Amino acid sequence: MKALCIRKGVHLFNEKRIVRMRTPPFRCLFCGSEHGPFNSVEHPIPESMGNDDTVVPKGFVCDACNQYFGSKLEKQIMASPPFNVERVRASIKTKKHGFSKYADDGLILLSHGFWDHALCAMSPEKYKTVFQDNQGVLWVNTPPNYIILLARFLIKMGLELLVLSDTLDVYSSAFDKARRCARFGEGSISWEVAYGRFHKEGDLAISKRFDEHGPLETRRIYEYEMGCMLPNGECQLVFNYLGHCYACNLSKPSLQEYIGKFNFQMEIGSGLMLPGT
Ligand SMILES: [Zn+2]
Repeated sequence: MKALCIRKGVHLFNEKRIVRMRTPPFRCLFCGSEHGPFNSVEHPIPESMGNDDTVVPKGFVCDACNQYFGSKLEKQIMASPPFNVERVRASIKTKKHGFSKYADDGLILLSHGFWDHALCAMSPEKYKTVFQDNQGVLWVNTPPNYIILLARFLIKMGLELLVLSDTLDVYSSAFDKARRCARFGEGSISWEVAYGRFHKEGDLAISKRFDEHGPLETRRIYEYEMGCMLPNGECQLVFNYLGHCYACNLSKPSLQEYIGKFNFQMEIGSGLMLPGT
């Protein structure tokens, strides 16, 4: 039997900082409201991506913004490739602890608890398309304006992870453009996102051992890193989910100065996603 252990993000803060950041300002990071209500903890990385322990405490994100991000951004991003298909392939459980499912026109993929295995049901027409015309390659569709949604999703994630890292003041005016882009879509049409494949598939496995049920693998699910670019102090988020690596700048829409280094680190095809496509 092959089971799955989830490796969590690498946190870049220490105990002292955690304690300090747990005194929330009760001022919304995104809309600026000081009236809240602030009854929700916020997950920078959606629970349906496998995050069950990295949360921003109450008092940083108001309930209205929390609900907006859940229903208007994360829901669409999680229902789109690569996340929807990869979650099934890796048997990442849903927020309600069920197995993930992908359904498209004439095709259903179901995870069943094993890494890299999925139950597949498709119509004869779909079978012909996938296995004869496309030689086993599954092409999936993204919604309109996917890159814009993705940019806003990554910015929202990055600002919230910045709260936890406490390396920079996330309430600084330096992040005003980013917060308005994430929450209200302002400037989102020109906010750049970089994408690459990193790690190689085989490198996602971290360890293998045997327990009483048989072989057990621990595999890398997601990682993130907050980068600070000197001398201008710009801050970037790099987020890797099952080998799909994304980067965006939290300080301004352009990622051009950073992309050279980012591309250098990628081993497989990488590139800058053009906004608005
Ligand atoms: Zn708010």
